[in-house]
Amino acid sequence: MQLPQIPGLKKFSSAWAFPCCGCGCFGLIIIISIMAFSATFSRHVGEQSLLSGGVGNCETTETKDFSGKTYKIPATSGGISQEDHLATSAETFSGRDYPSSEKEGLDNHLSITNYSTNCSGCPKGKWTPPEGGLMGQGSGSKPPASTEPWGMNMRWKDATGNKINPPAGTKVIITATKTGKSVVAAAGYEWGPGNTQYIAGAQNEVLHNLDISHGGEVTIGFAVDQTVPYGPINCACAGEVLATPGPSGYVCPLLPPGARVERGYNLAHRIGNQADLNKGSGEDDFGEKILAIRSGKVIYAWDQFANRCDTGDCRNGRKYPHGNAVKILQNDGHITNYGHIKQYSARQYGIEVGVYVQTGQVIAEVDDVGNSSASHLHIQISRMIRVNAFMRQLCK
Ligand SMILES: [Zn+2]
Repeated sequence: MQLPQIPGLKKFSSAWAFPCCGCGCFGLIIIISIMAFSATFSRHVGEQSLLSGGVGNCETTETKDFSGKTYKIPATSGGISQEDHLATSAETFSGRDYPSSEKEGLDNHLSITNYSTNCSGCPKGKWTPPEGGLMGQGSGSKPPASTEPWGMNMRWKDATGNKINPPAGTKVIITATKTGKSVVAAAGYEWGPGNTQYIAGAQNEVLHNLDISHGGEVTIGFAVDQTVPYGPINCACAGEVLATPGPSGYVCPLLPPGARVERGYNLAHRIGNQADLNKGSGEDDFGEKILAIRSGKVIYAWDQFANRCDTGDCRNGRKYPHGNAVKILQNDGHITNYGHIKQYSARQYGIEVGVYVQTGQVIAEVDDVGNSSASHLHIQISRMIRVNAFMRQLCK
């Protein structure tokens, strides 16, 4: 069967003595028939689309919305203007739906939106009355109260240059260049911003949570995962992304050249859900950067071990056979485990439980801690069979 092609990565075909690697999956694969694994392999390796699992992520497309429709937007990075916040339909003001002045209800509103705390660049007490219940320049529909604080606007155009908004509530991820912070914002409610010098405008709450002020530099893209909630996202979006995925949606976890897949030290490695990867030969890949093969949420990050070990909890089959490890729940539904990583390297890259990472983002460094006999990366992907072959294809 045809494996997905990842261009530009060198194939390394040498058969080198495998590094020992503790893996607690003995016997798992043996009972699986060739027919069964072929079917599973084909399904998982070939899948291109994102599965809905409620897993948010930082991945964006720049000009296509989640339905694949293309928009011409002025730019995907540049300054963002500050749009003053409008009243939500959930707030009442002395029997009216909206404030009668810039000040009315402000304290209450700020406490609701968390806008009032610790925002150096936010305006001082500005409060814009609504424009007929619409946002700003008013080309769209009235946002629901839960969405309204996260509104943003752009001068959207379609492929032929006609003015068009994406569907109201379409989720975009705005990332501030200066702070690296990200916010999931609601697009499609409004045409704007008013001043053409800015690529977009966003509510005060958005700027507050990005920790930037009016005119701040941002990057904007449609959220690939439209299930991610509005608001600030605990997201390592600013992390270093060193590889771009090909059609498969995956990248090799080690940079070229010379990411070599070992033959595997037991059957589980040869046809199972795990693989050992080396750079060069022997011990010369200490400190090599490890990339997330696919975007997702960090669900495990363990860095207790400083050295190799072959006893106790990191002995083969015990609790920590891979020594230090990071596990990421990907937005395709797989969980990928990266093992034997260098102590504290993950946290140096901002990797901790709960953060989201992008495909190709640096998450840790190679080491040989745990039950290992040479520096290498152990990688294990849940429910994907023949990871060994998959990695060989990804990293060729
Ligand atoms: Zn291994």
